[in-house]
Order: sequence, then structure tokens, then C-alpha cells
Amino acid sequence: MLDITSLNNLLAHPKKIVITTHHKPDGDAMGSSLGLYNYLIQQGHHTTVITPTDYPDFLSWMPGNAEVIIYTEKTDQSAALIADADLIFCLDFNNLSRINEMGELVRTAKAYKIMIDHHLEPEDFDDYRHWDINACAAAQLVYSFIVDVLDNKKLINKDVATCLYTGIMTDSASFRLPNTTSAVHRVVADLIDAGAVNWRIHELVYNSASENRLRFLGHCLSNCLEVLPEFNTAIITVNKHDLEKYDVNTGDTEGIVNYALSIASIRLAAFIVERPDKVKLSLRSKGDFPANEICKLYFSGGGHRNAAGGVSSAPLQEVVNQLKLILPEYKKLLIQ
Ligand code: 5GP
Ligand code: MN
Repeated sequence: MLDITSLNNLLAHPKKIVITTHHKPDGDAMGSSLGLYNYLIQQGHHTTVITPTDYPDFLSWMPGNAEVIIYTEKTDQSAALIADADLIFCLDFNNLSRINEMGELVRTAKAYKIMIDHHLEPEDFDDYRHWDINACAAAQLVYSFIVDVLDNKKLINKDVATCLYTGIMTDSASFRLPNTTSAVHRVVADLIDAGAVNWRIHELVYNSASENRLRFLGHCLSNCLEVLPEFNTAIITVNKHDLEKYDVNTGDTEGIVNYALSIASIRLAAFIVERPDKVKLSLRSKGDFPANEICKLYFSGGGHRNAAGGVSSAPLQEVVNQLKLILPEYKKLLIQ
């Protein structure tokens, strides 16, 4: 284990550093990783962000993006960087299964491993942990890591601020989720003061969809939405033919589940999609309904109380039926 002093000593001289984050990175995964990247390069560290898989175009504009390495595209180079690193930062995940094949490479690497995360039940693979489940985003924790742990607020420049703002904005659903506390708004205010152009970041992330994406959304809402009033639950089910027909790319399904949750009475919303190799579930809930418990108990997944996910190897319709069969168990919580 490392303490704060040894960590500060390690970072006092240029090091070989890898930053990684969970597969199919979202806004917080990329924002927290590139925020930390833009901080570390100012101190002369040789720093590389390696993502386990690709990520959406609407996240491919952040400062430092051109330097990101995607493991599935550059496997050998990624493996060499991981093996050679002095420090590996693990951001926005806390279980090595969330980085696919890279997990074993990180586990066996000689580097010190530093976890910065806000998910429940961390796996014990790290040497230093900056972890808080009450944080609204890993990007919020990167901010407090730089400001409170490393005492280096002055290095939060425009690039760092832009990335961290993006992480907080996306993981808090644009500052709407219950964990968007006054403290989060103070961090965001600091980031704007440091140069993050808030309105421009919203444009880049939320107003950059393709026409196909919008037509796919229309299809989901018109043809794939099932409302179960007796359980205050709404399910959107998408099969693989729909994905092909609308040329759905990485990131195009992101956020669609929130439309199902936007119905007044709905407490639980599910987006269930037939990927080529598995069925993927995204659950969202309102209030104290534990979406993560369903994902953990039945779909080999997990996440936060109000936003969770999981997978299944069963056929699409079976997965939908399985979810429907689980609902009566939760009826009390759903109809209160
Ligand atoms: P999404 O629905 O956007 O894919 O995921 C929402 C949240 O659920 C993520 O931030 C992550 O915490 C969690 N999550 C999604 N898929 C999985 C999964 O397969 N396993 C685990 N443990 N968590 C997941
Ligand atoms: Mn996150």
C-alpha cells in the first residue's frame, strides 16, 4: 500500500504512467481519464491513456484525445506500455473484469496501481485508493485528488477543466441526479473559472448526433417501448436487426433509457439490446429503487442505485421475460 507521502514522492519526478478506464467508456470515463492526463503531462510524466475498447464520436473531441490508445486496435503496444509502467491509474471502475482482457495485464504489471472511483464494492487490486461512492462522477474525484491529495489546484488549466467538466456533466445527467450536491456545483464553478466553456461542452456532447441516431431514437420510442403500469416499469427492447437497419454505432444507444424513465409514474426503466455476442441491459430508476441489485443478482452486473447495467447470454426475448418475472418481487418498492 502507498500512503499520500510516498505517492507524492513518486510523482515528484517524471514517471511512465498509464491511465485506463472501463470498457465502452462513457463521458465520465473519458473525461476523468483525459482530465488526469492533461494534469500529469504538465509535470513531465510520460503518460498514456489506454481504453479497453472504442468510444463514441461525441466524446472524441476532448483535449488529449488524439493521443489515446485503444487496446483492441493496438494490443501489443498497449500491453508493452502496461508492463513497463511505473504507475497505473484505474479510473471510473473498481473491478478488473470491467477492462476485459486488459484486467490480467494490469493485475500482473509491476506498476503501483491507483484507483480513483465511485462504484460500490471495490476489488482489492490497488496500492492507493481515492474512492467515494457519494461522488457524482470519477471526474469529481480526479478534481479532489489533484486539489486535496496532491495540493496542486494551480495546475487545473483549461484542458484539465474541460475534461473534468465533461465527466461531471455526463455522469450527473447534466446536474440532475440526486448526488449533484452544492459541493459538486462549487467544483463545477471552479472548472468554469479555470477555462471550461460550459455551453460549448454541452453542444459538443449533446448536439452532435447523426440523423440516423435520431431516427433510431424515434423507432425505439414508437415501436420498442413497453409500459407495465402495474409495476411502474418501462422496457425498451432492441433486436440486432434494428441495430443494423439504423446503422447504430458505439454510443448511439446512450441515454435512450432515460426517455423511458421520463414518464411520470415510471420508477424503473430498462433498455435491453441484442448485441452480436450477448444481450446488454441498462437499468435506470428513480428514488431509492435499487437498479444495481437487480443487475447484480440476475444479470452478472452492477452499478449505482439509480443507474446500473448487466449482461446475459440468453436469447433477447428470454432476457425480457426474465426481467418481467423478477418485477413482482420488487412490487412494493415499485408501486409505493
Ligand atoms: P450503462 O447502462 O450506461 O451501460 O451503465 C450504467 C452504470 O451501470 C455504469 O456506470 C456502471 O456503473 C454500471 N454497469 C453497466 N454495465 C455493467 C456491467 O456489466 N457490470 C457492472 N458491474 N456494472 C455495470
Ligand atoms: Mn462514472
